[in-house]
Amino acid sequence: MRQSTTTTRQTKACKIERTLYLDRTDALRATVTETKVLQTKTTSSSRMYRIHRISCQFGVAAASVVNVATGDEYNVLLDGRHSTCDCPGHTYNPNGRPCTHLEIVAEAQRRKLL
Ligand SMILES: [Zn+2]
Repeated sequence: MRQSTTTTRQTKACKIERTLYLDRTDALRATVTETKVLQTKTTSSSRMYRIHRISCQFGVAAASVVNVATGDEYNVLLDGRHSTCDCPGHTYNPNGRPCTHLEIVAEAQRRKLL
């Protein structure tokens, strides 16, 4: 079953529309597509991830998120507002906007796909 959620945010430069697809077949996969609407053109990029649940002693759930194209793997722990991800973006700005990995795992958990 394929389900998607779309969020839109406005930056100074442009409007960014992000669509998150979750797909559960043999493994849980996510595709994140970002479309940037600039004044003169619209650009779109896509990233694919594989998600594996990890057992954890605390928190709500934990998972590793692997970027299929680069092989980069990040570990996400879902624990309400104490949720963490070990990717550089989240490590350097832990109180900022949740990173893509956190969003993917949170959405998978919400839909009970994890
Ligand atoms: Zn992250």
